[in-house]
Amino acid sequence: MSTDTQQLTGQSILAGIPSHGNGGEVRGFNPATNQPLEPAFSLIDKDQLALATAAAEDAFDSFRALDPETHASFLETIAANIEAVGTELVARAMEETGLPEARLTGERGRTVNQLRLFATVVRQGDQHGVRIDPALPDRAPMPRVDIRQRKIPLGPVAVFGASNFPLAFSTAGGDTASALAAGCPVIFKAHNAHPGTSEIVGRAITAAITELNLHPGIFSLIYGPGASIGQALVSDPRIKAVGFTGSRSGGTALMATAAARPEPIPVYAEMSSINPVIFFSGALAQDATAHAKAYLGSVVGSSGQLCTAPGLVFVPAGAAGDEFAAALRTETANAAGQTMLTAGIYNSWVQGVQNLGSQPGVELLGRGAEGSSENAPAPSIFSTKVEQLLDNPVLHEEIFGAASLVIRYADAAELATALSKLEGQLTATLQLTESDHEAVAAVLPILERKAGRILVNGWPTGVEVGHAMVHGGPFPATSDTRTTSVGTLAIERFLRPVAYQNIPDALLPAALQRSNPWKLTRRIDGTLKNAGETA
Ligand code: NAP
Repeated sequence: MSTDTQQLTGQSILAGIPSHGNGGEVRGFNPATNQPLEPAFSLIDKDQLALATAAAEDAFDSFRALDPETHASFLETIAANIEAVGTELVARAMEETGLPEARLTGERGRTVNQLRLFATVVRQGDQHGVRIDPALPDRAPMPRVDIRQRKIPLGPVAVFGASNFPLAFSTAGGDTASALAAGCPVIFKAHNAHPGTSEIVGRAITAAITELNLHPGIFSLIYGPGASIGQALVSDPRIKAVGFTGSRSGGTALMATAAARPEPIPVYAEMSSINPVIFFSGALAQDATAHAKAYLGSVVGSSGQLCTAPGLVFVPAGAAGDEFAAALRTETANAAGQTMLTAGIYNSWVQGVQNLGSQPGVELLGRGAEGSSENAPAPSIFSTKVEQLLDNPVLHEEIFGAASLVIRYADAAELATALSKLEGQLTATLQLTESDHEAVAAVLPILERKAGRILVNGWPTGVEVGHAMVHGGPFPATSDTRTTSVGTLAIERFLRPVAYQNIPDALLPAALQRSNPWKLTRRIDGTLKNAGETA
C-alpha cells in the first residue's frame, strides 16, 4: 500500500469511500505555534453518519464469519500498511500534537505490535472461549443434553480516540484493534486534535480491507463534533458498544446517552485517574534525591499528559520526607515546560493548577520554567497534609498535565484513612523495601479495591501491552471496572456468550463442531483440552 500524506483529503471515509462532509469544517493546529494546519477537514452530518452505521451493520455477519487465518491476516495487513507509510506519519503527528519524535515513533511501534498481538489471539482462537458439556444420555436420574458455548462479537462498535495517544489510542489503537479482533465493525470518531494523523491511519485500515477483499463497512472514519455527531453515533440502534478515552465529562455524557437508549449498550470509557504513589519510610531512607528525580521524570514526561501520570504522592512526615521535598523543589526548578496537545488542554491545566494552588492548606512546593513554545506551562508541584485531602474534593481531581500533589502523612493509620477516601484509579504504586512489608501489607487490601494495577518500585507511566496487563479500574478511572483497555483481555469487552443446546453438528459454527476444524483449545466437561481434541 502507498499513502501519499501530501495528499490529505480532509474527508471522512464512509465504508471505504472518501466523503466530503456536509456539516462545516475543522482544522488541526500546531500547538507549538498555535497556527492552523492544512487541509481543512469537513465534518459529516447525521445523514452521512447513517451511511456508515448502515454499512457497518451490513458488514457484521460476513466479518464475524471470517476464518481465523483471514481474520488474523487482516489485522497484520493493517499493521504492515501503517509501517509502510514511513516517517510521514510521525511527522504529521508531531505537527498536530507537539509530541516529540521519539515518543511518537515508540507509539507507532506499540500500535502495530498490538495489532499483531491481537492477530496471534485470533489465530489461536481463544476469544471464542469455547466450553462444551457433551451429552450424557445415560445420566441418572436425568440425562444431560449436549450444550456448547462460544462467544460472539456484539456488533458495530463506536470508538472515540484519545487526544494524548494519536496512534496507540486512536484510529488503529487499542479500542479499534480489540473490537476488530473480536469481529466487530468499527466506526471511529476522529479526535479533532489530530485529524491528519487519523486520516493517514484510516487510509491504512481501508486499504487492508480492500487488499483482503472484505466488506467495506467493516471500518469508517468520521469527522464531526462530539456533541452532535458523537452523540448521534452512540444513539444509533445499529451501534452495540462504545470505546472511549478522554475526559470524565465526555465519558459520563456518553454513558448517559448509552443507558438512555431503548436498547442500552455498554460503554467502555477510560476517563480520570490521579494514580497515587506511596512512599514507605524504608524506601525513602535509601536515597531521597534519586526518588525525587524519578518522580519528577514521571510527572513531566509527555508534558504530563498520560492517563497514568502520578498526580498524588504520599510521603511520610519526618527527616527523610523533608529531604525528599527539598530535592524535589530543586529538581522541579530545573524542569522546563513542554508543548501540550492543544490550547484547550493547556487552558484546562492552567485553570486546574490555579484552583489547586488556591485551596486552603495547599502550598506550591516547586515550579519549573515555561517552555519556549506556545502552550508549554511550567511544571508545578504542590504539597499538603492528609487532613486537607480528606475534606476537599478539589484535591482528588485530575489535572491533566505536568502537575502533582505531595501529601505528607503522619503514620500508618492516617495513610490508610487517606487511601480509603480515594476514588477509583488506573494504578497505585508502592515504593518500598523489605523493612516496609508489614506496613505495605496493611494497605494492599485497600488498594486492591481502588486500582486496576498495583506496582512496586517503579513508576506508573509506561503500560506494557501483553496478556496479563490491566489498564482499567473502578469509576472514574473507567466506566466498567471489570475490564481493561490495554492488552489482549480488552477483546472480552466486545464479546458475549451464546449457548447452543442439542444443535446437530452440521448446524454448529466451526468453533463448536465435534471435529474441532479450527484446532481450538476448548474447555470440555470442565477441563481445558488442547487444540487436537475432538468433542
Ligand atoms: P474530551 O473532551 O473528553 O474529548 C474526547 C473525545 O470525545 C473527542 O472526540 C470529543 O469530541 C468527544 N466528546 C467529548 N465530549 C463529548 C460529549 N459530551 N458527547 C460526545 N462526544 C464527546 O477529551 P480531550 O479533548 O482528549 O481532553 C480534554 C480533557 O480530557 C483533558 O484536559 C483531560 O482532563 C482529559 N483527558 C484525560 C485522559 C486520560 O487518559 N485520563 C486522556 C485524554 C484527556 P469533540 O472534540 O468533537 O467534542
